[in-house]
Amino acid sequence: MDPAAGEKPHAVCLPFPAQGHITPMMKLAKVLRCRGFHVTFVSTEYNHRRLIRSRGPSAAAGLPGFVFATIPDGLPSSDADVTQDPPSLCYSIMTTCLPHFKNLLAGLNGSTSGAPPVTCIVADGLMSFAVDAARELGVPCALFWTASACGYMGYRNFRPLIDRGIIPLKDEEQLTNGFMDMAVDWAPGLSKHMRLKDFPSFLRTTDRDDTLLTFQLHQVERAEAADAVIINTMDQLEQPALDAMRAIIPAIYTIGPLNSLADQTIPRGDPLRTVSSSLWKEDDVCLPWLDGKRARSVVYVNFGSVTVMSSHELAEFAWGLANSGQEFLWIVRPDVVRSSEAAGAGAALPPGFLQATRDRGLVASWCDQEAVLRHDAVCAFLTHSGWNSTVEALCGGVPMLCWPFFAEQQTNCRYKCAEWGVAMEIGDNVRREVVEGRIKEAVGGDKGREMRKRAAEWREVAVRSMARSLTNLDSLIHGVLLSGKNS
Ligand code: UDP
Repeated sequence: MDPAAGEKPHAVCLPFPAQGHITPMMKLAKVLRCRGFHVTFVSTEYNHRRLIRSRGPSAAAGLPGFVFATIPDGLPSSDADVTQDPPSLCYSIMTTCLPHFKNLLAGLNGSTSGAPPVTCIVADGLMSFAVDAARELGVPCALFWTASACGYMGYRNFRPLIDRGIIPLKDEEQLTNGFMDMAVDWAPGLSKHMRLKDFPSFLRTTDRDDTLLTFQLHQVERAEAADAVIINTMDQLEQPALDAMRAIIPAIYTIGPLNSLADQTIPRGDPLRTVSSSLWKEDDVCLPWLDGKRARSVVYVNFGSVTVMSSHELAEFAWGLANSGQEFLWIVRPDVVRSSEAAGAGAALPPGFLQATRDRGLVASWCDQEAVLRHDAVCAFLTHSGWNSTVEALCGGVPMLCWPFFAEQQTNCRYKCAEWGVAMEIGDNVRREVVEGRIKEAVGGDKGREMRKRAAEWREVAVRSMARSLTNLDSLIHGVLLSGKNS
């Protein structure tokens, strides 16, 4: 590639097709656009249709120098508005996407595309096939690991856990007979407080060929082939895990917290700020409702975009919240209950719950979470511990109650509770008394006070980390992403 002098560098941004990956990639893509790149943002056809249904056709219209493109995800065509089944999606991506992506790149570089030639690829860490496409094109490829460094090292330690004969599990009983409580204080890069159950959930299998186990192992090991790995974290938060990552992959660029980095980089009033990648439409009532509440009086509950639960679990959360007597904002995604036929927010809630809490609770289907976590009224966050939610809460200085669902959320939860001092666990088998007790403790107890103090300290760290993250962004751009231009 020898783009003509003066032509803009062209970054192709390829997120993994799930909300928790699309959101941070969109922020990074916007940052690159503000740093002078022409950007092509690649969605799957399925998510592209969802985006248009939820936000209207203008959502995918793009802006000058910021263009949307699509590739198929390889799954049967569907117009559902739900998060796709993770194992099917991962398998399909790993086995079908590379040729489609290469075709897209060829089209972008074709004489009729009107875009400058592609000069670099920024792909999600779970889309590592992009490294092969970049090699073929002769441009650099940075992989964006959108999860935590401790999560990355959690997956990297699957190999030693296999070698020691600890996983795959011998039988299903090991899931419940105390085996998962085994201390694992020897894992490189990880906390001495790790137990087997704190590793990413994909090791909870008796099948060595389990799709998600195989997929994640492949992706984390493949990261070594990239020209750089970008990560939305702060050095001070995860130093040992980052040191361990840097021993394996020298070119690691920490750019967290990315929400603050994007906020500082994208000028006020730039139309780019209005481009949203949210696959659900936000309920407009949430922020005005919070505006009417006292400072630090509301418990915010949101389990992210992928978590599903049984209606029994939903009912335990509901009655735990109700019995805590606390004010709350609860985001109940329409598809949060497993195989529910519920249509619309609140439809799956237990009978009598809305009536019992109508004076102090608001249930909605989706919100602008970053704005909610920055809001003064929020005092605690009941979360599944996804990495974006975790970073957003740390930026808001909000302590957490954790009910991890899957993937590296278990590891994030352990770090928040045992290393960073900002959270308490709800426990795998959710019970209403525990939910009630933890909420009361978080809001009014000594532990809650301590967590708030630590959360406020981490918020300061997040603010101070910006200078380093901006420097790292510059090094990433000049040392890696622009190395394919005019080379
Ligand atoms: N999110 C949001 N509104 C909601 C729920 C989630 O904007 O009602 C955003 C949230 O701010 C975060 C992302 O969706 O950026 C969820 O990512 P996370 O890694 O926390 O969890 P996942 O959804 O991948 O499990």
